[in-house]
Amino acid sequence: MGTKQGKQEQVGSQRHLIGPKHIVIVGASFAGLFLAKKLIKLHSKTPLQITFLDKNSYFELITSLPGALLSPEHASRIILPYSQIMAQLNSRSPHVSVQFIQGMLTRVTAGGSDTIEYSIENGQVRHLRYDYLVLATGSMYSQPIKHYYAFSQDVRLEGLKVKRESIKGKSVLVVGGGSNGVEIASEMAEGGGCRKVGLATRGNMLLGGLPERCHLAADRWMRENGVEVHYNTTYQEDTKDTLGYDEVIDCTGFKYTSSGGPSSYLQGDLSSCLSPQTGQILVNSYLQLTTPSHSYSNIFSLGDVCLTPSNEEKAIVPIHILSSFLSANLHSLITNSGSNLQPIPEAIPRVYMINFGTRGAGVVVFNEFVMEGMERVPVLRHVVSVKKFKRMIDWLNLGELQGHQCERCIMGAQYTGMDAAFCLFRQKCMKCLPCHVDRVDRRKSVKDAIKRVKKYDTLQ
Ligand SMILES: Cc1cc2nc3c(=O)[nH]c(=O)nc-3n(C[C@H](O)[C@H](O)[C@H](O)COP(=O)(O)OP(=O)(O)OC[C@H]3O[C@@H](n4cnc5c(N)ncnc54)[C@H](O)[C@@H]3O)c2cc1C
Repeated sequence: MGTKQGKQEQVGSQRHLIGPKHIVIVGASFAGLFLAKKLIKLHSKTPLQITFLDKNSYFELITSLPGALLSPEHASRIILPYSQIMAQLNSRSPHVSVQFIQGMLTRVTAGGSDTIEYSIENGQVRHLRYDYLVLATGSMYSQPIKHYYAFSQDVRLEGLKVKRESIKGKSVLVVGGGSNGVEIASEMAEGGGCRKVGLATRGNMLLGGLPERCHLAADRWMRENGVEVHYNTTYQEDTKDTLGYDEVIDCTGFKYTSSGGPSSYLQGDLSSCLSPQTGQILVNSYLQLTTPSHSYSNIFSLGDVCLTPSNEEKAIVPIHILSSFLSANLHSLITNSGSNLQPIPEAIPRVYMINFGTRGAGVVVFNEFVMEGMERVPVLRHVVSVKKFKRMIDWLNLGELQGHQCERCIMGAQYTGMDAAFCLFRQKCMKCLPCHVDRVDRRKSVKDAIKRVKKYDTLQ
């Protein structure tokens, strides 16, 4: 059973009583792909079968979406077909076989009949057995930021094109003063071809939750660049007309309760693993699905879709850190019955890079430490540009996914550096510095839901 051929024959509806273990990962975006890459690295000797299920046929580098809203060339560059990514993952180890299925997860069954049910594009329902299941279905977002049912690359690109054309020459109100709203409003103000851009936010600050200096920098940029910020404005049906805008872009944050989300595929007993407050999946410190009385030992969740006891920010660096723990734990379960499972750290660092427009302005945040872009400093503004730095990381990410060796090495070094910084700033002697990693209980918006997860936090 050591060859890929042998393993592939085991996939499908057969339960793997013998032979390679079968890990099914639902959602092939950052969380799913980080996890798979780490699993492949760890299983250099043990055979393993990984099956991805994703509703879409393509990966979209969502972090680069503001650019895709403005430029068709950029939009097609940040979308990669999964066939290309899977071929690349498959070539990484002779022992690990990776396959991809396009379909929408509709039901998870646990406790003896470990199966998932999914539907394919023509509505046909299929089943797949798993030894270990990882739910990494992320979040929903209003269109055009995320397209719920864009199964194919062409449909997605067409959706972005329609939106791009609908805002040209119009006045546009971006709703939501978080990092996405700020980035999208600022890029549209600079290069979206709009007549006027406004930004509406419920509170009295932009980038709420981040250190106040971020709000001050964003507010100043918006004023200097003609973006009208409407503070204390809760968006309602008539807000667009009252404030005098033609079009609206909704950036009010991640959503979890829409169709296709966890509440639609976790039913029966498994529905007790849902947070009543946010609709996310509750997991324990080992990222196992958990209820007040029970943890599911072979069902895990990773990424935006779950709430963990660490209460980490929903962004890429935390996903990278947590995927290391989950891959190590899955490896331990497969190779030595889970004798050395590691809980995730209590505190996960907060790392943000938020650009204001494309000319260098923005903020870089590491916990409480904030560094501003150098857009006001001659010469330096061309070198220290938040947008250029973000773009560079985006290209490296895409290059790595396509299997380019150079990008793979640079990304590896970047994550090693990040892990080292994380370790360093966890030390007690660093406590006086703003970059100290002490992020316990800080995300206030989900505080109640997190309290609940902590109550359940046991290994069973
Ligand atoms: C516009 C925007 C900009 C961002 N910029 C940044 C940034 O600059 N830096 C940063 O750190 N973070 C950024 N984020 C956050 C970051 O993108 C997320 O934290 C990250 O994408 C989460 O990854 P994930 O794999 O958990 O989920 P997602 O990226 O949401 O992916 C979920 C996957 O699951 C699939 N899926 C969903 N439901 C089902 C189902 N029922 N069946 C089958 N498949 C399903 C989807 O098709 C998708 O492929 C940004 C987010 C947005 C929306």
